[in-house]
Amino acid sequence: MKLFLAMLSHETNTFSNVPTDRGQFEARNLHYGGEILETYRGTGTCLGGMIDAAERLGARLVPSVAAAASPAGPVTTDIYGHVKERMLADLRAAGRLDGVLLDLHGAMVTEGLDDGEGDLIQAVRAVVGPTVPIAVTLDFHGNLSEEMVRGAELLHGYKTYPHVDMAERGMEATARLLEVIAGRIRPTAALRTPPLLPPLGNQGTTRGPMRRLYDLAEVMEKDPKVISVSIFAGFPHADIPQAGLSVYVVTDNDQALADRLADQLAQVAWTHRHEFIHRSLPVAEAVAKALAAEGRPIILADMADNTGGGAAGDGTEVLRELLRVGARSAVVACIWDPAAVRECAKAGVGASVTLEVGGKVDSRHGAPLRVTGIVRTLSDGRFVHKGPMARGLPGRLGTTAVLDVNDVKIILISYRWQTLDPEMIRFVGLDPLEQKVLVIKSTIHYRAAFEPIAREIVEVDAPGLSSSNLARFDFKRIRRPIFPLDPDTTYP
Ligand SMILES: [Zn+2]
Repeated sequence: MKLFLAMLSHETNTFSNVPTDRGQFEARNLHYGGEILETYRGTGTCLGGMIDAAERLGARLVPSVAAAASPAGPVTTDIYGHVKERMLADLRAAGRLDGVLLDLHGAMVTEGLDDGEGDLIQAVRAVVGPTVPIAVTLDFHGNLSEEMVRGAELLHGYKTYPHVDMAERGMEATARLLEVIAGRIRPTAALRTPPLLPPLGNQGTTRGPMRRLYDLAEVMEKDPKVISVSIFAGFPHADIPQAGLSVYVVTDNDQALADRLADQLAQVAWTHRHEFIHRSLPVAEAVAKALAAEGRPIILADMADNTGGGAAGDGTEVLRELLRVGARSAVVACIWDPAAVRECAKAGVGASVTLEVGGKVDSRHGAPLRVTGIVRTLSDGRFVHKGPMARGLPGRLGTTAVLDVNDVKIILISYRWQTLDPEMIRFVGLDPLEQKVLVIKSTIHYRAAFEPIAREIVEVDAPGLSSSNLARFDFKRIRRPIFPLDPDTTYP
């Protein structure tokens, strides 16, 4: 049994002016061949789950390329072409294959393509022919297209946000692919895309409208005729026609059942559409509330400046307010500012520096902020994820500095990465439990590891490209009408 294995993952925020080029992939993940197995084996990722299941079920993997970059603007034609050509060349060279396993995102936009995954899956299909089955794992934020559904026998979306089931989905996709190869199941799929563009803020699956949908899906999956159900909340910061929530149901050779269940889930999502609308506190109000709260640590969630949603990661508005009111015992995790890091490194640990931090990427995350502080630590930015998301996966933040401005400690990083793990605070010598306030630049993911240690969480409505206030964005190419931008939208 021989399975092809590859990964290409990017969530593209089309409002970002940061191009996702080769350097962005090299800074994060760009691996080839056998190196992929060594890097991902045993990690809480889709690839980790795929490798584990293949080895357990006796399938041999042909690893090709694994590429991922932090969410930002469109993927350049250069790096997309490189990864795609490498994948197709390896497929041609692999000889007879029994199946193909792909770990993709579902919301990748390249410089020339709205639907990156649709293009890639169709290209893989063209090489392997119509009889070799393809199974794909996709992120919960995928914006699904008919091309993806037609091109692959099986799509498996993450069922959680924070994404804590990636390894499980990788295992499931592998096991189901082997059943297809053995002729035990015949996947038959239905896709529904109601005119619904949920902001990120209320997409979490521990409560709210997505929890209701996945509770229903869980019941549906008990039917032996149902292979799997995925409800993609979608990625709203992609100004493309297929952006939005989608429902994908795949059954064992029963189209009527797939259609019926997909319709039912789409209707439930629609009925409860108002629950997706998200509200958070203005910056000054949120900071005052956090400082007045009992106990520690209190988390200020800077939801709109989440690099994991394609925001710059260098937003300054929450920091500006903390300094304005003279807050103490605070950590800002993290601000992406390689230039400020270089200045800190040049000055050295213990030195006092005056410099501008953040606000440098664009005009949508607050202006640069001039501060004077002491460089407390410098590090190479290497840590290992220990929280429920991506546990065991090495992380790289590049050269990292802690700049202490009157007990407001700013963690300055050189590579963009969402603050989803308390380890990103601990590895520079700060104890998150000892701080009064932790400013965390993340929308939902931080909750998996930070909720258990937080005394209270305050969600902030600061400016930024992952804001849940969709009225802030100038959409031009999404489907209209669409809820909530067009409140009178009807469905079906
Ligand atoms: Zn996601």
